[in-house]
Amino acid sequence: MALREIRELGDPILEKPCREVKEMTPRLRELVEDMLETMYEANGVGLAAPQVGVLRRICVVDIGDETIHEGEPFVLINPRIVEQRGSQTGDEGCLSLPGKAGKVTRPEYVKIHAFDEEMKEYEAEGEGLLARAFCHELDHLDGHMYTELVEGPLHDMEDRKEEEEDTEE
Ligand code: ZN
Repeated sequence: MALREIRELGDPILEKPCREVKEMTPRLRELVEDMLETMYEANGVGLAAPQVGVLRRICVVDIGDETIHEGEPFVLINPRIVEQRGSQTGDEGCLSLPGKAGKVTRPEYVKIHAFDEEMKEYEAEGEGLLARAFCHELDHLDGHMYTELVEGPLHDMEDRKEEEEDTEE
């Protein structure tokens, strides 16, 4: 496994639509592992393949709730939203725009259909933060950033990461 460089807003690769995955290959499996490692290292709750420079319909999500998905991260291959309802408005950030956040309205609930890293079909439901994370990551696969949806100005995120590091030492 290896960390991959996270592309930042302004990189044209973040504006391009991604191609579907037809079959799992050793190379894509390695990509999934690297994406997970890169997401955890950056303290993110989700990461999409174009954010590490690969235009394939793959994303990973882990909101850190042990009660969801048996504490395992979601690996979403060729994901699509099949159901959605309600709405929620709240702060959203992105590893491709570090340190910033902005208000975005998303569905309160979504059901997604996707394939896992074994290319097995599954459905997952998400509410609240998980629904927001699914929507955010799926948007990346079509070349969209949350900044296109943001209501009002972006603001600086509190630097919680640094505080956590301080307390750990
Ligand atoms: Zn993002």
